[in-house]
Amino acid sequence: MKAKLFVSKLNQLTKALISMTPAQREIVHQSIQALDSEISIDELIQPLFDAKSQCPHCDSSQFKKWGKAGGIQRYRCNNCSKTFNNKTKTPLARLHKSHIWQAYAHCMQLRLTLRQAAKICDINLKTAFLWRHRFLQAQAGKNDDKLSGIIEVDEFFLAYSEKGSKTLSYRQKARNRGGNIDKRTKKGQVAILLSIDRSKHMIAPILSANTSSEIAINLIDNIEENSVLCSDGSWAYVKIAAQKGCDHKRLINNKIRVMENIYHIQTVNGAIANFKAWINGSMKGVATKYLSHYLAWFKENSAKLDKQQILLSAYGRQQHYGT
Ligand SMILES: [Zn+2]
Repeated sequence: MKAKLFVSKLNQLTKALISMTPAQREIVHQSIQALDSEISIDELIQPLFDAKSQCPHCDSSQFKKWGKAGGIQRYRCNNCSKTFNNKTKTPLARLHKSHIWQAYAHCMQLRLTLRQAAKICDINLKTAFLWRHRFLQAQAGKNDDKLSGIIEVDEFFLAYSEKGSKTLSYRQKARNRGGNIDKRTKKGQVAILLSIDRSKHMIAPILSANTSSEIAINLIDNIEENSVLCSDGSWAYVKIAAQKGCDHKRLINNKIRVMENIYHIQTVNGAIANFKAWINGSMKGVATKYLSHYLAWFKENSAKLDKQQILLSAYGRQQHYGT
C-alpha cells in the first residue's frame, strides 16, 4: 500500500475506532491478533536460521537446498554430506503438528496447566508435557541478564521433589518417612537465588550448596559495577557489593522494610511469593529436575513475552528482558 493511501485509510480506521464501544474495539483487536498468528513457525524461525547459515552437524557454511519434506525445506551439507532442516538439532527438532505450536505457546503465555493446554490445542497430555519442556529447554539455566541500577536479591527454598518419577530415590523416601522438613537446616530443599533490578532484568540460578561462595559465583558477573545492591542481612552479599563497588543497602531489621523511600527487597520477595504460589498452587509442585525449566518459564512470563517470542526463545534465541 502506498504511503498516501495508507494515511487516508489510517484516518478512516482511527475515526471508526473512536466511534466504537470498548467491546467492539476488543473484537477488532482480536482480529488483528488472528492476522498476526497466520505467520507460520517456519516463517518465524527461518530468518534466525538464515542469519546463522550453518550446517547443524559440522558448522560448515557450505550447504545447498535439497528438496522438501512435508512442505519444509531440506538442505544438504557440502562438507559432511548430511541433510537437515531449519530445526535440526534445536529443541524444536522432530516435533509434530507445528501449526498448533503458536496456540500452545499462547497457553504457556497464560500459564495454563497441561490439562488445560491439551484441551485447548486438542493434543494428548503426553504431547503437552513434551512440548512444554522442549519449549523451555533452550532457556533453562540461562542466566545472563545484566542487572544494574537498584538491584534486589534474595534466596528462597522449594522442597526437593521427584514428582512423576516411578522409582523414588532414597532421599525422597527418607523425606516422606521423616515428615516435616527441617526448616532450620533446609535439608531436603533446593535453594534458588533470585535477583531483579528495577528494569525487570532477572536471574534465577539454582544453588547446589547455598554457600556464600556459590552465591558470589552466580551473582557477581551479572551485576554492573557501581549499582545499588539491596539484600537482607546475609553476609554473603557484603563481599559481593564491596567487590563490585556497589552501594549496599542491608535490610536487616524486619521493622524497617524500606530505606530512604526507595531501597527495599519487596519486588524480589513479591516475585518469590508469586513463583512459589504458582508452583505449589496450580502446578501442584514440580520435579526438581525440571525446576530450571519452570524458572525460565517464570522469567518469560515476567517479561511478558508473547506467543511468538516464546517460540523464538524455544528455538534458542536469547530474549532481551526488561526495558
Ligand atoms: Zn555439515
